[in-house]
Amino acid sequence: MKMCVKCPRCNDRILLSSDAADRRITCPKCLILFKVPAMEELGEALSAIDGIGGGVFVDGKGNCFG
Ligand SMILES: [Zn+2]
Repeated sequence: MKMCVKCPRCNDRILLSSDAADRRITCPKCLILFKVPAMEELGEALSAIDGIGGGVFVDGKGNCFG
């Protein structure tokens, strides 16, 4: 599964493997280090993806999953 997170500084969306969950990554654009949400924090997103049959879910913070 892939996930994308929104950089807290430049708002760029960064596509990641779900392996990156709960780890720190560096934004390729502005180079700040920030933490990717843990999969456990994504329960709502993951159940929403199940509900729509494998589409992409975007949460209120701009993180999208699918
Ligand atoms: Zn950035």
